[in-house]
Amino acid sequence: MSNLTGKRNLLFLLALTLIAPRFALAQMATTPLQIVTTLPEFAEMATVIGGSEVSAASLLRGIEDPHMVDGTPAMVLKLAKADLAVLAGMGLETSWFSRALSKTGKASIQRGGPGYVELGNFIQALEIPKSPVDRSQGDLHAEGNPHFNLSPKALADSARGLTEALIRARPDKKAVFEAGEAKFKTNMATLEQDIRAILKPVLILNPKPQFIEYHREFVYFFNLYGLESIGAIEEKPGISPSSGRLAQISTLAKTKGVRRALAGTFAPRQHLRRFSELSGVPFSIVPTMVRPGSPESSSIRAMQQTLAEALIQ
Ligand SMILES: [Zn+2]
Repeated sequence: MSNLTGKRNLLFLLALTLIAPRFALAQMATTPLQIVTTLPEFAEMATVIGGSEVSAASLLRGIEDPHMVDGTPAMVLKLAKADLAVLAGMGLETSWFSRALSKTGKASIQRGGPGYVELGNFIQALEIPKSPVDRSQGDLHAEGNPHFNLSPKALADSARGLTEALIRARPDKKAVFEAGEAKFKTNMATLEQDIRAILKPVLILNPKPQFIEYHREFVYFFNLYGLESIGAIEEKPGISPSSGRLAQISTLAKTKGVRRALAGTFAPRQHLRRFSELSGVPFSIVPTMVRPGSPESSSIRAMQQTLAEALIQ
């Protein structure tokens, strides 16, 4: 090999070492980050924040009770391909989701890993129990009430957790993700104002009307809009009311002039009907999770509108 050819080869190698990493990076950047969420609303959030940099899908379809889901092999397969695993946490879906995560054997998305995103850590939690929690209190969560997906404000706050995780995964796209986060926050603030406008007929009443919930899953919704709930019809979180409880809570609701009871799709109808008979308070069954494809809850906005319209009836 002549000296000249040697030099050429050396230059070629040098050029390759300079180009190759950029080429690899460019290729990597064209592959969207795979985001797998528990609730469909979190997939909606991820799509707004990440845009074309992400591909987001949820494990739940919006028809399940998020507290009680059987993790399936299909879920494990989906999670195994995820760069980020996103959940509400605070005990909402933690148990079945953690089990599914551990079955993937993928370290980066286990709790504590860079791809594990517990959005509940980024919100102002409501109803944090003052004393230690044990099973005798039903499905009560030590971290506070986990149903923050019904508040656009809490969803906006929780977006920080997802944005931080996205930046960890793709630091070169920081500006894109931060712009996406700002857009999501603006969307949620606008939505909050629009819902306040729908709720105006009840918000202007004096004294403020009171509501009741079958399960305490509307707490963040009521709190955000300044509405009042006298509590749950359930005996304890996740535990159906006894006839004694139904009689007692119905009397209380009647005395307080409760306007309406709200219940998620999974609330047992017979208890709601009995409550209504005893108290004279009507009830509405409403969606409590985004359900893609269903007109009344196809998006965060559609679901908020459905909730608000049920309350002004
Ligand atoms: Zn709950």
